[in-house]
Amino acid sequence: MTEQTQDTIVIVGGGMTGGLLALLLAQQGLAVTVLDGAPEPQFPQGDAQLRVSTLTEASYHLLCHAGAWQHLDPARLQPYQAMQVWDQDGTGEVNFNAAEVGSDSLGWLVENGHLTAALYRAGEALDNLDWRCQATVEQLQRHGDGWQVHSGGQVFEADLLVGADGARSLVRESAGISAGPRASGHHALVATIATAEPHGGCARQVFMESGPLALLPLFGDGHRCSIVWSGWPALIEELRALPPEAFVARLQGACGEALGAVTLVSERPCFPIEERHASQYVARALALVGDAAHVIHPLAGQGVNLGLLDAGVLAEEVARMRGAGRGCADPQGLARYQRRRRGENLLMQNAMRGFKALFERREMPLRLLRNTGMRWVNGAAPVRRFFIQQALGRGGDLPALARASGRQAPH
Ligand SMILES: Cc1cc2nc3c(=O)[nH]c(=O)nc-3n(C[C@H](O)[C@H](O)[C@H](O)COP(=O)(O)OP(=O)(O)OC[C@H]3O[C@@H](n4cnc5c(N)ncnc54)[C@H](O)[C@@H]3O)c2cc1C
Repeated sequence: MTEQTQDTIVIVGGGMTGGLLALLLAQQGLAVTVLDGAPEPQFPQGDAQLRVSTLTEASYHLLCHAGAWQHLDPARLQPYQAMQVWDQDGTGEVNFNAAEVGSDSLGWLVENGHLTAALYRAGEALDNLDWRCQATVEQLQRHGDGWQVHSGGQVFEADLLVGADGARSLVRESAGISAGPRASGHHALVATIATAEPHGGCARQVFMESGPLALLPLFGDGHRCSIVWSGWPALIEELRALPPEAFVARLQGACGEALGAVTLVSERPCFPIEERHASQYVARALALVGDAAHVIHPLAGQGVNLGLLDAGVLAEEVARMRGAGRGCADPQGLARYQRRRRGENLLMQNAMRGFKALFERREMPLRLLRNTGMRWVNGAAPVRRFFIQQALGRGGDLPALARASGRQAPH
């Protein structure tokens, strides 16, 4: 660890993005405090949790550098080597395989709670990281050049305040930064299913006029998948209220025979999908990361990956500011962070909107166009390789820590 300085950083929110940022900053020798309202993260046991995320190769490298990946239980991690995307209405289908770019996997499926617990465990080894749970932040005030953060009767001083407090960020609101929301027109239902046929390490997604259905391979006996079914609110509410047998019949109709007969093995909670994008990611002595800065449609499973990249880039910029003898809240450095991340995140958000709109349309010319487009992508190896690189998170302005970790990616 490098020598500690007087700079103090307070991160509100110890979820996946706040947790990663805390580790990367504490590794630089900064005094970091994380305040999170939730109880202490625990490693999950037994059945898979319902909230899961697909992680890219770039996220894997960041988590290795932070020392968190090493705390994940390999038995609860599911790598996927293939992706299959098809249009239920037509003849379009695209297949991606990791082997095409010489990679072992296209990504990993991890439970959100599992990853948060691994980040928290990694933080226990860092003396200069004070990670507090059940510490809801109630109020934030500007104080001199920094901030005062109020939580449970205590006041924390911050030279740099980071909002990693999710979609309804108090930090963002306290700084007067606007961020929508913009209704996506979709809600999402998540559940775990058992499948007669093995998932074979393949992440599947079928696009329907009403929205996409993702079937993501889960750890275990190879016959469990996590589903994320996004669609019009009335449809999702109807699916949630159906008796289990009727729900399974609808699911089977939507996903076809790829996985054989399916069985529902969990609850079916639903979430509204609200898109947000902060008008700015930084203000004086303040930065936003993760869902506090941007919330995108989950159809490509990119939300947390973008947040982890925010954390990687912000940590890199803080190191640069300090290397140049400036404080960790140097306005030019924070502006650089915003320049590097906001455009890329906006691009991804707009791409998701475009995909959603394209598959919603029933007009014959558009259906023909998308089916032809999918067949073209599927038939053109260089184009397929381009999309695989994007899925791995290799595109764009990556922080150095997202490029390589010196660890061999697990199979
Ligand atoms: C159905 C669904 C499926 C998804 N699937 C994927 C996927 O496959 N891949 C992917 O990359 N993304 C996915 N996403 C998106 C992903 O879940 C989010 O992008 C991610 O959870 C954001 O992480 P975060 O740490 O920024 O925010 P959050 O997870 O919202 O964490 C915020 C933290 O801040 C804390 N907090 C909030 N307010 C306060 C306060 N006032 N004081 C103290 N603490 C506070 C909370 O307790 C929480 O721990 C999905 C989203 C949905 C809805």
